[in-house]
Amino acid sequence: MLSLEVALARMLERVGPLPAATVGLDDALGRVLAEPITARVTLPPWDNSAMDGFAVQAADVTGATKRWPKTLTVVGESRAGHPPEGTVRSGTAMRILTGAMLPPGADAVVPVEATDAPEGVAALPASVVVMGAAAVGANVRRAGSDLRQGDRLLEPGSRVSAAAVAVIAAAGHGSVRVHRRPRVAVLATGDELVEAGAVLGPGQIHDSNAPALAAQARQVGAEVRRLGIAHDTLAEVERRLAEAVAWADVVIVSGGVSVGAHDMVKSAMERFGPLDLWRVAIQPGKPLAFGRAVGPEGGPVLMFGLPGNPVSTFVTFEIFVRPVLRRLAGDADPLARDTVRARLSSALTSAKDRRAFLRVALRPDTSNGTGWLASSAGGQGSHVISALATADGLAIIPEGVDRLEAGAEVEVWRLEGA
Ligand code: AMP
Ligand code: MG
Repeated sequence: MLSLEVALARMLERVGPLPAATVGLDDALGRVLAEPITARVTLPPWDNSAMDGFAVQAADVTGATKRWPKTLTVVGESRAGHPPEGTVRSGTAMRILTGAMLPPGADAVVPVEATDAPEGVAALPASVVVMGAAAVGANVRRAGSDLRQGDRLLEPGSRVSAAAVAVIAAAGHGSVRVHRRPRVAVLATGDELVEAGAVLGPGQIHDSNAPALAAQARQVGAEVRRLGIAHDTLAEVERRLAEAVAWADVVIVSGGVSVGAHDMVKSAMERFGPLDLWRVAIQPGKPLAFGRAVGPEGGPVLMFGLPGNPVSTFVTFEIFVRPVLRRLAGDADPLARDTVRARLSSALTSAKDRRAFLRVALRPDTSNGTGWLASSAGGQGSHVISALATADGLAIIPEGVDRLEAGAEVEVWRLEGA
């Protein structure tokens, strides 16, 4: 049996990021940057007001209180989008709105709440009574205090989050260079399978692997095509694979890779290129086929044959396919995972010779050092789908260990969106 690390390294050494393309900001979410984002503009571009109020000379309002107010003549207004007309001189003030340019001559802003001017919509008053002091710079946002033209803000290889979209737009970019999305074709195999939602005939079950694999691939930002369900015949599996290879960067096949009398997938994959059939030392999901075909333009097409047991399919995607898709998508660190350490609320058992990935529910728990308590999400058999409903993560039980007692500390990979 191969170790997980060796199997994964052999897959990853064959992939690099897909080529880059330029997309608009509305299409950037979830894509991976192919270039650094640097600021094209300085923000704020000029000194501006952090409050609605009056721009003043701080010296004019020194010591102003409710009891000892200072009255200033209002010389105009500065509002967002309209540069101020005029200058603030000693004894005068200019009405100013949040984000508007600080007028020449002013060095502080008195909030409207500290004056006799009404809050909300109101005509420009002739004068204003100031009932609070403001030091030089009070309520002023300085030019460049947020970002400066040329600042490096985001690195290539990072995924565009909603927060990153805000930064990219504010930095003056209307579009970004991102890697192409991996194209993933998903095929289920098995004579017993019918589409989800269909009425079941004798001996039939619903295909849950293909919908799950498609969803997992979409979480990584892949463009997914479902190729339906193939019967367990070499000809049919081969025909569907040919269809897949014509379009995809990655083909994921579920089922039919074991040593059963009708497990045709390995032979079918072999027709398209060299095939590695691995018994990887993990639980669940031991038999795993990995092949390489050649696409229509001569590029590589990676093929995964995942074990058909639904939990094995799900877990082997997480372990192997997700990092490969992330590398194709341009991710700088395709192996990084959202991981927590947790204490077990009850004992867990696993196969001793393999690294186990067991489904657990997590809840916060401040009474122990890790901050998390993990409990088995249900039966751990590789056919038990129901435990996926309550699983928040996969607890990792190392090789050489077949039982961890309640209270033991484990590493847990959190499942995205669980
Ligand atoms: P196989 O790897 O084809 O031998 O399948 C192993 C087990 O997983 C069998 O019990 C299959 O019925 C089940 N199975 C295979 N493919 C799927 C699928 N797409 N959805 C649900 N169960 C499946
Ligand atoms: Mg089968």
